[in-house]
Amino acid sequence: MSGAGDVLEVRDLKVYYYTLTGVVKAVDEVSLNVKEAEVLGIAGESGCGKSTLGYALLGLIPPPGRIAGGSVVLDGTDLTKLSEGELRKIRWSKVSMIFQGAMNVLNPVYTVGHQMSEPLIIHKGYTQKEALNVVSEALKQVGLNPEIVKRYPHELSGGMKQRVVIAMALLLKPKLVIADEPTTALDVVIQAQIINLLKKIKQEEKTSMIFITHDLSLISEIADKVAVMYAGKIAEVGPSEEIFYNPQHPYTQGLLKSIPRLRSKEKITWIPGVPPDLRRPPPGCRFYPRCPYAMDICRREEPKPIKVGDQHYVACWLHAKS
Ligand code: SF4
Repeated sequence: MSGAGDVLEVRDLKVYYYTLTGVVKAVDEVSLNVKEAEVLGIAGESGCGKSTLGYALLGLIPPPGRIAGGSVVLDGTDLTKLSEGELRKIRWSKVSMIFQGAMNVLNPVYTVGHQMSEPLIIHKGYTQKEALNVVSEALKQVGLNPEIVKRYPHELSGGMKQRVVIAMALLLKPKLVIADEPTTALDVVIQAQIINLLKKIKQEEKTSMIFITHDLSLISEIADKVAVMYAGKIAEVGPSEEIFYNPQHPYTQGLLKSIPRLRSKEKITWIPGVPPDLRRPPPGCRFYPRCPYAMDICRREEPKPIKVGDQHYVACWLHAKS
């Protein structure tokens, strides 16, 4: 699945939460890669592990969670081997995150200019004046008037705040930006503007991105490649067109059938049941209690990724050659 030109290579990553009631295997043996200027969309239902995976890539898993195994190689460095101090130097400069809900990210008591200058002063040693010049340019790049450096977050609209958060994530020109549900809580017009902005940034800056969302229709707008997660594992990964027009995993097929389409006469359906408790996931395929095609082997043995097309892999026994 990996190859030359990879900015990020994740191998067999495990993120477990050690709770009093058991070990929650939130991300379990996940492998994926992202190339330069590529957007990888990560999709799945709430609780499938997609946000945990994003936080793990930045070394931001809060206790009682921790990375229990595997590697995260960013631009040649395995982030799982770094100390907290070393990780702090890499955050913002090599990998940054556009967090869910801009209001929770921006500090209400500081002006936009003050909080945006901080990473430049800390990481680059800029003076306040030099930092503010860079901030002004960054704000222009995301379509905002640089005058807002003097404003406080509560004086901005939701869309403006989200643009500020995007500008912050790009300030130090990181290799990889992780966008975690960046358009949640925004209306559809602003959503479209933010998606177009991210596309423009990808083209102009050649930034690699991981776009995490439960909304497959948004992913189809921006992603070059899609990984579908279910219960902490990758069910299917492949080029966007393959995933949207030729999905091979029963879970991906179920997700796509649950999206309303304007021109389609196909009935909208949903996937019955709920995802498993990740303290006690089912043995074998984690999707079998909900899968319409479940076979005996699915209950017993876990399916490993099988190549079904160019860069297209699916973890499902239906595709195993006997
Ligand atoms: Fe369904 Fe079996 Fe494939 Fe799992 S491995 S998705 S249960 S057919």
